[in-house]
Amino acid sequence: MNRVAVEAERRSDTFRPPTLQTLPAAVAANVARVRARTRSTIMAVVKADGYGHGAVPVARAAVAAGAEWLGTTSIAEALALRAAGLTVPILTWLHPAGIDADEASAAGIDVAVSSVDELAALVARAGTAVRIHLNMDTGMARGGCPRGQWDELVDLALLGRRDGKVHVAGVMGHLPLADQADPEANASAVAAMRDAVRTVRAAGLGTPPAHLGATAGALTDPATHFDMVRVGAGLVGIDPSGTVEMHGASRLTAPVVHTAAAPAGTPVGYGGTYVTDRATHLSVLPVGYADGIPRECSPQAGVEIGGRRFPVAGRISMDQIVIDTGSASFPAGTVATVFGPEGGATPSIHDWARWAGTIPHTIVSGIGPRVRRSIA
Ligand SMILES: *Cc1c(COP(=O)(O)O)cnc(C)c1O
Repeated sequence: MNRVAVEAERRSDTFRPPTLQTLPAAVAANVARVRARTRSTIMAVVKADGYGHGAVPVARAAVAAGAEWLGTTSIAEALALRAAGLTVPILTWLHPAGIDADEASAAGIDVAVSSVDELAALVARAGTAVRIHLNMDTGMARGGCPRGQWDELVDLALLGRRDGKVHVAGVMGHLPLADQADPEANASAVAAMRDAVRTVRAAGLGTPPAHLGATAGALTDPATHFDMVRVGAGLVGIDPSGTVEMHGASRLTAPVVHTAAAPAGTPVGYGGTYVTDRATHLSVLPVGYADGIPRECSPQAGVEIGGRRFPVAGRISMDQIVIDTGSASFPAGTVATVFGPEGGATPSIHDWARWAGTIPHTIVSGIGPRVRRSIA
């Protein structure tokens, strides 16, 4: 390294840039928490870059902790997992019509099929027996084959199998209401799923594993477990049903880059929406809404510095936020925790979701590319 690089390295030691740290031990603990509630196979869903935590580190931690399958939205995401050396079965479930399923097949990736047209296109193009999961719309109207066309889909799968083009490796649905943690709310989807499974078996397509529930179903409603549960949010510390405490699996830190004393009556940030009510200190953190800090935040929003919670002062800018630290004056380089699993003064992703009027999924999956990634 030349001197300039060495100097930059040294400086970056002092001023640790904004960093999102993934905590694999928390992912493992979350898998264990799911395992304690179901005997079904666990699929670790790592779409959207592992809900912002890094698809590969989350997948590795989940598999090491006992998840038997991986799930992603696209084939490209699944291929990246294969490239990283993950060898467990992978299912993908959202494809434009006319995908090259042979590429998936060659990499040992299963694909969900959600309509008769999709399956017809797949069968027409397949060179080898593609492993498919027949996907029924169990009440969400977001993809999935309508119940009224299920028989036709199953018949086509039979023909495809006869011609050596497909192997039916699974039957799936998705729960629209599992976050209510109410078995009643899931009952019609569970009934639809049973129906889907019955038709597949009756057609002579064997007994492929059936899967319906995601995190909330896995944690709260055994009737939704079938042979496998698909757990995404739960891996990174989110129980959408709000009934089970999971382990936060990431920590976002940012260094103080600037600190100044400010007299009482100082308006802070765009629009001067926050005015200091006493002599205080203001510290700037180099993260803003371009980095995923939600701009729509209530005045309760805050961060941890030096073991205490301090409020975000004024509007969140594109690249920075200002923190009102009162009588405390933190030198540049002091590391603030924007969110983390610690509790106490450290806000959680659930706190940020509440402050922003959203769900924690959007907080973790929205952290921008400027933020460095690290793995604990
Ligand atoms: C995202 C997703 C899941 C995982 O849901 P979580 O609530 O995050 O556990 C499961 N199945 C499908 C089809 C999904 O799209």
